[in-house]
Parts: sequence; C-alpha cells; structure tokens
Amino acid sequence: MHATLEKLLSHGPVVTDGAWGTQLQSRGLPVGACPDAWNLSHPDAVEAVAQAYVGAGSQIILTNTFGANRFILARHDMADRVAEINAAGVAISRRAAGDRTKVFASMGPSGLMLMMGEVSEDDLRAGFLEQAVAMAGAGADGIVVETMTDPAEARLAVAAAKETGLPVVACMTFDSGAKLDRTMMGTTPEHASEQLLDAGADVIGSNCGQGVAGFVEICRRLHATSGRAVWVKANAGLPEMREGKTHYAQTAEQFAEFVPQLIAAGAGFIGGCCGTTPEFIRAVCAKLRD
Ligand SMILES: [Zn+2]
Repeated sequence: MHATLEKLLSHGPVVTDGAWGTQLQSRGLPVGACPDAWNLSHPDAVEAVAQAYVGAGSQIILTNTFGANRFILARHDMADRVAEINAAGVAISRRAAGDRTKVFASMGPSGLMLMMGEVSEDDLRAGFLEQAVAMAGAGADGIVVETMTDPAEARLAVAAAKETGLPVVACMTFDSGAKLDRTMMGTTPEHASEQLLDAGADVIGSNCGQGVAGFVEICRRLHATSGRAVWVKANAGLPEMREGKTHYAQTAEQFAEFVPQLIAAGAGFIGGCCGTTPEFIRAVCAKLRD
C-alpha cells in the first residue's frame, strides 16, 4: 500500500467526507446543471462545502471533480476544459484543507458503456489519464476512482490514476441483485476486489447506491478478499421523493450507529455519499471517539 495511506491508517480509522452533489444543490446548483463547472463559476460555494467537511473533522476531503472527464463535460460543451476544471477543483479543496487535511481528487465514470461500443478502451484510457494528470499537477494527495459499475472501465481509470504515482483508491457501487450485493453490471465484491487490486489500486471500497446498513456485509466481503482496510461511503439511507425533490430520511446519528460494525467488518476509511452532510461526518467522528 502507498506510504501516504499507511501513515493515515497508522492512527486508526480515517474519517473522509460526505456528499458534494447534494451539498452544492442545497447551495443553489440547479438539478441537471454541471456541478464541476462550478469550480470556475462559483468557486466560493464549492469551497464552502470543502470547508464544512474540514470543520466537521474530515481527515481526507475529496474534490468537486467527479464528472470532470472529457466524456461528461462534452454533454455541457466543455470537453476542452478538463485541465482547467480539475485544477480549479483541486485548488479549491486545497485552500479549505490547509496542511492538516489531505485532498484526494474524485474521478467518476465516463457515463459511456464500453460493452455497448459507446466508447473505446483507448479513448477511455486517454480521457482518464488527461483528468488524472491535471489532478496530480494541481497538487492532489491521492485519487479516488468512485461510483464505478463496470470493472473494465474501473480498471482503465485506476491504471490511469496510478500513472501519476499518487495513492489510488478504487470504489464500485453495489446496488443491484436480490441482495443488493452486485453492481449494475453484475459484478460481486469478490470480483471487484480482484480486478481493482490487479489494476493497481492501493485501497478498494464501495460508495453510493444504498444506505449504510447494506455496506457492512459488502465491506466484510471486500476486506476478506483484499486483506486491506476498506474505503466506505454509504448514502443517507434510500432516497424518497417529497414534493418533487429527492429526500434522504436517515439522521446523522442513525448513520453513525453503524460505525462500530463497519470497523469490525474491516473499514479503514469512513465517510458518506449522497444525502450525507457535515453533520454526518461530525457524528462519525464522535462515534469514533467513544
Ligand atoms: Zn452517492
């Protein structure tokens, strides 16, 4: 494992951050707008999210760059601004982090299906490398490949991130199958673990897709296969539609109740995904202090 990650883990479980998308929406990002473009147009709002997580006790914060690859940016006519948007995203989190919090840059999927021939392996590789190089150049401490459903795409992203020499975390989303223990493409935690480690990931894990209750068993299985501390970022329960808006009903305290079980299952990095807030991170920190 990369020395940066070993050093972080040497003091016990590491608290990461919570959701960015839902936090930006609560600060005015319209549904359907490009969140990553806010690094250029609304840097203060993005920095406020990062600062809120640092203030809540996050030891690692991510960046507002989840969709800042040329494939997703093309939908917003910004495919030529990958370097600029990623550099700004890392710089914003860096400013909020100061020197006591690490900044791991977020790398999401392309939104295109390899299997359907919507994109070639070579184009995916080049696109992810372009993004990873921009993140590393802007001073990220690590890269988190997240919300992946296709192991073939995840492998390409991990390999590209790995070329920068930074520590690489790789996460897939398990939200399908009768037991919600498969990705949308049918990948199990065991298969994901094998593929992501083989591609060079330092740490593997899971984010998004379901609430924290379902993460305990997935974490246990990822840990059993990899033998490494697992990265876990669960949603704040399942979303409900209320008055046309997505609403997450779980409270920060209910979420944090699962922290001891997650640690027993092998979690080494704990944070939240969709619907979680700085309050959730504060509750996780409080639970860890108990
Ligand atoms: Zn999520």
